[in-house]
Amino acid sequence: MSKPILIVGGGPAGLAAAHSLATFGQACILVEKEDRLGGAPILEGYAKLVPSGEWARDAIGGMVDRAAGHELVDVKTETTVTSFTGEMGDFTAVLSNGDSVDVSAAILCTGFTHFDSANKPEWGFGTYPDVVTTTQVEQMISSGNGVRCLSDGRKPKRVAILLCVGSRDRQIGREWCSKICCTVSANMAMEIREELPDCHVYIYYMDIRTFGLYETKYYWKSQEEFKVKYIKARIAEVTSDGEKLIVKGEDTLVKRPITIPFDMVVHAIGMDPNVDNPQLSEVFGVDLEPHGYVDKANSYSASGLTNKNGVFVAGSATGPETIDDSIAQGKAAAMAVLEQRQLSARLVG
Ligand SMILES: Cc1cc2nc3c(=O)[nH]c(=O)nc-3n(C[C@H](O)[C@H](O)[C@H](O)COP(=O)(O)OP(=O)(O)OC[C@H]3O[C@@H](n4cnc5c(N)ncnc54)[C@H](O)[C@@H]3O)c2cc1C
Ligand code: SF4
Repeated sequence: MSKPILIVGGGPAGLAAAHSLATFGQACILVEKEDRLGGAPILEGYAKLVPSGEWARDAIGGMVDRAAGHELVDVKTETTVTSFTGEMGDFTAVLSNGDSVDVSAAILCTGFTHFDSANKPEWGFGTYPDVVTTTQVEQMISSGNGVRCLSDGRKPKRVAILLCVGSRDRQIGREWCSKICCTVSANMAMEIREELPDCHVYIYYMDIRTFGLYETKYYWKSQEEFKVKYIKARIAEVTSDGEKLIVKGEDTLVKRPITIPFDMVVHAIGMDPNVDNPQLSEVFGVDLEPHGYVDKANSYSASGLTNKNGVFVAGSATGPETIDDSIAQGKAAAMAVLEQRQLSARLVG
């Protein structure tokens, strides 16, 4: 077939795109800046995924094996793209290792950056060791060591999970909902209760967005079967009395101040635009939308189009997305590349 297609980013979206293209006999070059493929679920050591319940290392690890094991997929880790010139069907990409490759199109699957909780200092992260993030708890679970207080290794008896940390927060310029953190948190609360049945788990929320079928599987199940407690609250601060962490805020249902002690506080961190996006925008000539994600063009004629002909985008590079949707977008962008090439060939012929 024709020149290879460049896929930038080896997370769920990029792996899905590469595998689809290779299955159709199309060679691809998969460029990943880290030393391993798998994207956030592998790089950050996620535990069991929602909604499948499969361990990330098995589910996404399987995707890595399928894509990287295909003879038509040329994987280049610890590599980025430094320049990308030409036009649809005839681009040249220069890589950070100095190599130059000719490709017919590119799909950006460059994902997101986890919100850095240090940007929300009043909620205790970076000040108190037992204030952690959902990714840290995912790592505790996936490592098999269990959920423990980082200060002294004890089993927490009371855990608070604070939702929307770095999402839906105009004060810090992050107005978007990160889509998946309510569901991930409800699932995490159940996992903590399963491992530590004596531990009380509270979820502090603004609204619960366990969208679609997740309402039954996570929201109601966590309350009815696992006795997770939900508090609709506006959190003011997380402090310490020297022994316990203290979460202070207002219960917005009864409109009263609440102050509750905990052993561990978990920030359900959101999905920021990839910090590389300004540079990716410059190299690939793609526009960013106002929040800083890669802007999608009209999606009724084809999926994953950008403003630049021949450069496509998929997954959480375009905004907060679930893994299932990122995979679907990766496959859809792969199909869009093939469709567009077929259309151009017909025009030329
Ligand atoms: C705590 C947490 C838990 C989550 N759990 C779930 C869950 O259980 N189920 C679910 O559906 N979703 C979950 N998500 C969301 C999930 O992480 C995303 O849906 C998924 O990772 C998106 O896949 P992606 O391929 O678009 O991006 P990513 O996974 O971010 O992959 C992008 C890849 O591109 C690479 N890259 C970035 N920039 C460059 C560059 N300039 N050059 C080359 N390579 C680059 C990155 O290193 C990375 O490997 C969770 C999110 C969080 C924050
Ligand atoms: S999914 Fe839930 S926790 Fe995440 S930003 Fe949206 S409302 Fe907040």
